[in-house]
Amino acid sequence: MRLLHELTTTEVGDLFDDCEVAVLPTGAVEQHGPALPLGTDLLAAEAVARGVDRDDAVLLPTVPVGVSAHHRQFDGTLWAEPETFEAYVGEIVASVAAHGVRKVVVANGHGGNRDALSRMARRLRDDGVAFAPQWTWWSSLDGLDEELFDRSGIGHGDAMETSMVRHVAADLVREAALDDAEAGAADSWGESVHGASVGFDTAEFSASGVTGAPTEASAEAGRRLYERATDELDALVGWLSERPFDALTPEPHR
Ligand SMILES: [Zn+2]
Repeated sequence: MRLLHELTTTEVGDLFDDCEVAVLPTGAVEQHGPALPLGTDLLAAEAVARGVDRDDAVLLPTVPVGVSAHHRQFDGTLWAEPETFEAYVGEIVASVAAHGVRKVVVANGHGGNRDALSRMARRLRDDGVAFAPQWTWWSSLDGLDEELFDRSGIGHGDAMETSMVRHVAADLVREAALDDAEAGAADSWGESVHGASVGFDTAEFSASGVTGAPTEASAEAGRRLYERATDELDALVGWLSERPFDALTPEPHR
């Protein structure tokens, strides 16, 4: 995909004539324990999006900071309020829609962004502005996570995320800190008491900021995750590309 921010306005005008879909990566700048960089989520989302090679789509610049206040006790974490993030991403989508590209995939790398992105997508669709579903890189692994790590779903700074960073930005994994990351990790996200989720901030249940087992990561697992994610994103963009915008808008009242 062509990168919007590297083109001129005249070049983009020509590109938009043949362009059906825009891809907008969204990430986070937040603690990922002592072994992974703060930008893990934005690096993963952007790398996966850049891995899709299509002529019918354009790649928008990555939105780096997301909904991360639950990591605020750890140095370096940046965050936006969910309402701010929802509005900002929605305004980016609305602006590309105003140029005629009304189908947008929000290629997300951070679980904490998902609720706000869902609200944004529903609102813009209801208003007839754009069709902008969120897609998160680990959301369509089809069992690959269980095959690679004997567990499904993603933790935080865990084997899955560490493997992904090993593939997309290997120099940024602090190998010597992986043992410390794992020693202070929680097994899973938050704490449940009689069925109520009572863990709100990561600092309440994880000493290192990590959940999961980062020492089980590998570059080979990262390559397979990356390839699965780029294949799925490519297929999603293709699906959207083939559909007229009118086929994606709400049904009329019965
Ligand atoms: Zn992450």
